[in-house]
Amino acid sequence: MMVTVAHATPGMSVPAGAALHSVPDTWPMESGVPKSAAERDRLADEHIRWIAGKTGWKTVARPQIETRSESELATMFFGGTTGSDSAGPLALYAREQHVLFLSDRLVFNTLSDESILLHELVHHLQVANGIHFECREAEEGQAYRLQIDWLKEHGIQDPYRMLGLSESEISALVCP
Ligand SMILES: [Zn+2]
Repeated sequence: MMVTVAHATPGMSVPAGAALHSVPDTWPMESGVPKSAAERDRLADEHIRWIAGKTGWKTVARPQIETRSESELATMFFGGTTGSDSAGPLALYAREQHVLFLSDRLVFNTLSDESILLHELVHHLQVANGIHFECREAEEGQAYRLQIDWLKEHGIQDPYRMLGLSESEISALVCP
């Protein structure tokens, strides 16, 4: 299945290999209980309220959320031209269809997984609130900054490390 305008967590502008929301293997993972789809949906609703509180945007209904395999997500994101060595995204938001696709690897038993859902929901709220950005980098930068704020509020001292990104990569996400 091809998604015409897919918006994936990490932006294309993030240097290759830096993102795609894979958590470094070295990160000590807290081991919570995987969430059911209903619990994940409740988390999405909480995230939407949190984002609205931070931004002053209106809350909206959560998007349709669908689970896909990693290779299906890679095909959506790269348009079927993915090589065997290119990591696919763990989540992406299809802005035309208002569908949020999640990798079946995400089970939402870690703050990292939960923050990936938050990041994609920022894109849903950007679209739903008609927020216009001059460029993709700015749109992506806002999603990352909110994701990082959320992780900090949840006790993560170094969210950049958790996400495998550097602070300078995130602050570089501004319009050229
Ligand atoms: Zn994004």
